[in-house]
Amino acid sequence: MKNKAFLGLILFGAMASAQGPNLDAQYKSVENKVIEWRRDFHQHPELSNREYKTAEKIAAHLKSLGIEVQTGVAKTGVVGILKGNLPGKVVALRADIDALPVVERNDLPYKSTVTAEFLGEKVGVMHACGHDTHTAILMGVAEVLSKNKDQIKGTVKFIFQPAEEGAPPGEEGGASLMIKEGVMENPKVDAIFGLHINSATPVGTIRYKSGGTMAAAQRFVINVKGKQSHGSQPWSGVDPIVISAKIIDGLQTIISREAELTNEAAVITVGKINSGVRFNIIPESAEMIGTIRTLDYEMQALINRRMKEMVPALAKAYGGDATIEITNSTEITFNDPDLVAQMLPTMEKVAGAENVLPQKAVTGAEDFSYFQKVVPGFYFFLGGMTPGNKDAFPHHTPDFKIDDSGLLLGVKTLTQMSLDYLNTAAK
Ligand SMILES: [Zn+2]
Ligand SMILES: [Zn+2]
Repeated sequence: MKNKAFLGLILFGAMASAQGPNLDAQYKSVENKVIEWRRDFHQHPELSNREYKTAEKIAAHLKSLGIEVQTGVAKTGVVGILKGNLPGKVVALRADIDALPVVERNDLPYKSTVTAEFLGEKVGVMHACGHDTHTAILMGVAEVLSKNKDQIKGTVKFIFQPAEEGAPPGEEGGASLMIKEGVMENPKVDAIFGLHINSATPVGTIRYKSGGTMAAAQRFVINVKGKQSHGSQPWSGVDPIVISAKIIDGLQTIISREAELTNEAAVITVGKINSGVRFNIIPESAEMIGTIRTLDYEMQALINRRMKEMVPALAKAYGGDATIEITNSTEITFNDPDLVAQMLPTMEKVAGAENVLPQKAVTGAEDFSYFQKVVPGFYFFLGGMTPGNKDAFPHHTPDFKIDDSGLLLGVKTLTQMSLDYLNTAAK
């Protein structure tokens, strides 16, 4: 019996080392710091492209860990490079760091009372999307990994990205500017991981989707030209309002009759129409603006092509003219299916298989998608809701709240994904 137990101990020891280092003690010691950092960021939020203090705190932390640091990337971005003791590939981890012009309504000891100027107006500022949690989680990951360089086969690049919510008008910013400034090079990134906290997913759980996960957002502008006439005599003019109605109707048939909806969802929304000045004048022109959301690049190409064909053709059919212009706002947050399959066992090991659940696509957009156009990436959702809280408030609202007991799972998951990805890649 004794001998058997002894053998069991040896086997157990060998198994533990084959699975990599036991980081439990280190996770435990970093959890309180992560929560403290998060509450500090929450209390001191900064708007997109204005994350000066946030960036200073991140850079100071990374430097204190002995991580090589670049600052001022894409204005206020911070990049940390941690080289492991063993050679291998490069994995990037990304956290967005900006807050929103929202007045916080929560009654918390670390509630934000910050105000700032936004588009010429004084506004309240709040981490109403939870990017404070992303920033704190990634600082925690950096701390744990920096103490395990002997286990890292390759390099981990920490990307603290400004302006995910969009740079102010007239400014560049966010993921695309970071890429333009070379964040994916020197050393060249092989894969990227990122997460978003979710106010309606219980703490302790992870949700993910393979393939198209968050939509590409495109903006379109349609200009319809008719011929002005008296409202009582439509026959002597061409009515751009009636043409606009036909166009709106036509656009919806692209979604309902032409897009293969069993493949992925797609949306066309006309969000604004502008035409006319008074009740008895048929105006000369109309303008419509709207958004297109797609989760598949082939469907996006089809929808764009058909919109460009249909808009002028419909206007022509009713005696007018129309032009359409489509511009990209974000790409598809596309989770590389092979990478997802490769990393799922890691997630299940960390969170427990029963806590890693597939989810539906989201028609909201995320600029992490730009990184995924350069290298394979995996973006997933982390639970931030107190279990049982039925009326969790959505992101971007004044009552948005995150239970920070869920943050440690984010630290563990990103840490283990990095180690396992580099370990497998090195073999
Ligand atoms: Zn947001
Ligand atoms: Zn967000």
